[in-house]
Amino acid sequence: MNTDKNANLFEVLRAGFPSDSNAPCLLLHCGRQISYGEMEKETARMGNLLVSLGVQPGDRVAVQVKKSPQALFLYLACLRSGAVYLPLNDAYQRHELEYFLGDATPRVFVCQPQMRILADELAVETAVSHVLELDEDGGGSLMQLAARQPETFSTVFRRSDDLAAILYTSGTTGRSKGAMLTHGNLAANARVLHSCWRFRPGDVLLHMLPIYHVHGLFVAIHCALLNGSPMLFEPRFDAGRVMELLPKATVFMGVPTYYVRLLAEAGFDLEFCARMRLFISGSAPLLKETFDDFRLRTGHTILERYGMTEGGMFSSNPYEGERRGSTVGFPLPGTDIRVVDDNDAPLPAGKIGNIQVKGGNVFAGYWQMPEKTREEFTADGFFKTGDMGQWDSEGYLSIVGRSRDLIITGGLNVYPKEIEELIDEMPGVVETAVIGLPHPDFGEAVTAVVARQKSAAGDALEEAGIIGRLKDILAAFKVPKHVHFIDDLPRNAMGKVQKNVLRQQYSD
Ligand code: AMP
Repeated sequence: MNTDKNANLFEVLRAGFPSDSNAPCLLLHCGRQISYGEMEKETARMGNLLVSLGVQPGDRVAVQVKKSPQALFLYLACLRSGAVYLPLNDAYQRHELEYFLGDATPRVFVCQPQMRILADELAVETAVSHVLELDEDGGGSLMQLAARQPETFSTVFRRSDDLAAILYTSGTTGRSKGAMLTHGNLAANARVLHSCWRFRPGDVLLHMLPIYHVHGLFVAIHCALLNGSPMLFEPRFDAGRVMELLPKATVFMGVPTYYVRLLAEAGFDLEFCARMRLFISGSAPLLKETFDDFRLRTGHTILERYGMTEGGMFSSNPYEGERRGSTVGFPLPGTDIRVVDDNDAPLPAGKIGNIQVKGGNVFAGYWQMPEKTREEFTADGFFKTGDMGQWDSEGYLSIVGRSRDLIITGGLNVYPKEIEELIDEMPGVVETAVIGLPHPDFGEAVTAVVARQKSAAGDALEEAGIIGRLKDILAAFKVPKHVHFIDDLPRNAMGKVQKNVLRQQYSD
């Protein structure tokens, strides 16, 4: 018999569940509540179902469904049964699904009912043993079969280095890679965030993020469960619903676009946010303007943090102490962060370089890509994040952008963020993306894509005016050769500006 402690993440989280099993776990859109006790029973039924279907510890369970309480229970049931959870964005179509199922070879695929015919076809192609359905309202064959299962389940023993989940990165270049996250990785990050963000009795989390991504699935849910807190569990972000629900919450986590939209709500002010303890932002850069406006309007300083699929959260602004706009704060306890040059030599404050990380939260490698995994780690075990950044003199880290977005023009490096910030400050500008486009002489030409305000100041903006102003303050090689205007910058569901889309759109 194994006498080690069970490192299964579910057991780690369970240690924080309330002693009263009637305490609410989920507060739903429809007004219904689901208690911690009910949640445990549901996850037990689903765990029993997975085992009855022949799912062994380490088998993958792929899930492409809409956000619902049952989808969350399925994640927890996978943890409990030792299966490896593989969430898929519900926007993925045939071509993408074919790749993910073929690559991850799951034993079970849970899909939306309307995807059933396609799912069956793909299951035959990729040797998936079972296809089950789950709809947005918690109906479907998964729930019908689970309902017949016993409501107790003994959580399977897992070591901390056993896999808990595979999350495919939303790679914009090359094949999407499956980041392998272990029970130990997820538990380490959950504990650190719970402590650094000072989760406490009485906290209520307003959860509006998608749950196929590290932000909504791990960061938000693990903090709440480890705290035994209820979550106001909403199907999606909706500023109107925030206006109804925020007075019942104490913590909110969002991507920057959520904050921009909330600032557009008239009643979103100091009094309205009075009960709130903490607003957290991440997954994409928060504009300084949003950070400042939010503080003015609500009296709250948004806490910005930085991380990625391959390791959860790496750094965070402090809970106590100054939260600095345009920075992502300090390394979290247990995570080493370094900013290095192209020879992996650490750089001092003020010098821009590659961000590398190491720690118990950093993933175990890319699924079935040992070569790629080796390439992405240094000899001394640091993961190359692909982000570029710099320290300030007080140890705050700021992100300059992805290294692949770095522009090299005439052999000189241009960091898009420096130019984006300058254009953003001009009257009439909503926001800017600076990209490099192929150029016969320079290799790449600095190009700005600007979203204008719908106002007189916005209408007055012209390419020549922007370029002229930048010429006064920037070295000539950094000044955009062209400025294009656009209604809105293209973003993915996590609020990240899709520079690859812009590069494609303007490369002609
Ligand atoms: P994902 O793996 O989808 O979570 O994307 C991770 C990437 O999002 C990071 O590598 C960063 O490029 C970016 N990111 C996350 N948080 C921030 C932040 N606070 N500021 C700027 N970029 C961020």
